[in-house]
Amino acid sequence: MTEMRQIKLRLKYRGSLHLWIFSILLGIGVIPVVVISILLVHSSFENHVKSKLAELQYQSVAVVAEMEQKDYLTNMSQPVLTAEVEQLARFYRGRVILVDSDYRICKDTYHLAEGKYNISQEVLMCFGGANTSRFDEEGKYLELALPITREDGSIQGVLVITASMEFLIDLREQLEDQRLVATIVTGVLLIAVALFFSGLLVRPVKKVAKAIDDSSQDSVGGDIQINDCAETIQIAQAYNRMLARLRALDESRQQFVSNVSHELKTPITSIRVLADSLIGQEEVPVELYQEFMTDISAEIDRESQIIDDLLTLVRMDKSKTELNISRVNINEMIEGILKRLRPLAMKRNVELVLETFRPVLADADAVKLNLAITNLVENAIKYNVDNGWVRVSLNADHQFFYIKVADSGIGIPDKEWDHIFERFYRVDKARSRTTGGTGLGLAITKSIISLHHGGIRIHSVEGEGTTFTVRISRTYRRQEEEA
Ligand code: ADP
Repeated sequence: MTEMRQIKLRLKYRGSLHLWIFSILLGIGVIPVVVISILLVHSSFENHVKSKLAELQYQSVAVVAEMEQKDYLTNMSQPVLTAEVEQLARFYRGRVILVDSDYRICKDTYHLAEGKYNISQEVLMCFGGANTSRFDEEGKYLELALPITREDGSIQGVLVITASMEFLIDLREQLEDQRLVATIVTGVLLIAVALFFSGLLVRPVKKVAKAIDDSSQDSVGGDIQINDCAETIQIAQAYNRMLARLRALDESRQQFVSNVSHELKTPITSIRVLADSLIGQEEVPVELYQEFMTDISAEIDRESQIIDDLLTLVRMDKSKTELNISRVNINEMIEGILKRLRPLAMKRNVELVLETFRPVLADADAVKLNLAITNLVENAIKYNVDNGWVRVSLNADHQFFYIKVADSGIGIPDKEWDHIFERFYRVDKARSRTTGGTGLGLAITKSIISLHHGGIRIHSVEGEGTTFTVRISRTYRRQEEEA
């Protein structure tokens, strides 16, 4: 396998939900089975050892009691008791040793150690008056040591009995083997169950992924519908909402492109018609020639104005953070705008009035804000009636400043209010064109105000006039600071 394929495989399984669910299910199933089976084998073995010891103790105590009664250690030629001792050893497949008060072995059912001495710890403890028992796992035997007392209570010897535990240890080994087999079988079963359930749980997610994949084959995709569970419904709904937004964006982009083409074509068509009609005529009088050329020049101005406005908009769209913020004297800025536009107003005898309620300093991009307010005042003059008025007012509180541009013009019908900020949208196309409008002015204004995190509202009554109100924070905060 190449290194690349190994990396891909690793990546695939590291993040796989399927693998995670599978492992968790398997873990939940296998760990308890293994732990419980180990505990069961262990505790059942312990219980067996305990019960064996209890039984051994019971039998040995009875024999020791008889020995004490018949003073066996002093007189060992008692065939009945000797036979009992031998039988006890045989019964437990073990060995019985009797140690006298000199630590000498006076009886050994194996007849191997008689006459030798036994000063083992167990024997010593018995002479101290205590019973001892010990399970030697390696030697596979159980050892019990009991003191044999005289009538006066003194200890005259010790009975040490060892019982073979080979059978129990073999049984445990068998149980261990069975446990291993059972664990492997349950493991295999659990793997199958975990595979099945993890597949079942992951299926809705895969379905969603496939549906999204299929839907993305189209350019903007179609809605998806997966009603498997609440979560997939939620994902599908979120995806469909995102698609709807993308569709709207796509539509508005297409609309924009077609609007741009149309707007750019209009002056060119006019220029072409004017030029063609000049070419088509022979001996054109100079006056007509000049008139047509003036019209052509006006159309070129229009074209270049549209291009300028478009560029302004595009620049604002992509350079959201490129505001050149400084402390701006808003009063001075508005006065400057009115001064520049006064000649335009005078042409139609429109009265330009400025009302400032207080001096206002604010953080803003002076050039851009100037353009936004100029557009509003220019519109107020352009869409006014002869001898009308335009009132610009500036006010502020501790947080915001407010600029109101009110006019006595033609007004805008309510149903158009939502649209006038769209690019190339004009209420009265003919009027906008004759006044040299591109349909981009309010779009630019809104963009600039949004960049300043401000808002713009409109109120208008047809035939009476329009008021635009702009509200912008006096201190500019960048987007990341706000977050
Ligand atoms: P334009 O370049 O056509 O003026 P704008 O984006 O500035 O484009 O304005 C969009 C449209 O909104 C205008 O064509 C006009 O119909 C309408 N409008 C804007 N301002 C006013 C106003 N003060 N009074 C009446 N109509 C207005």
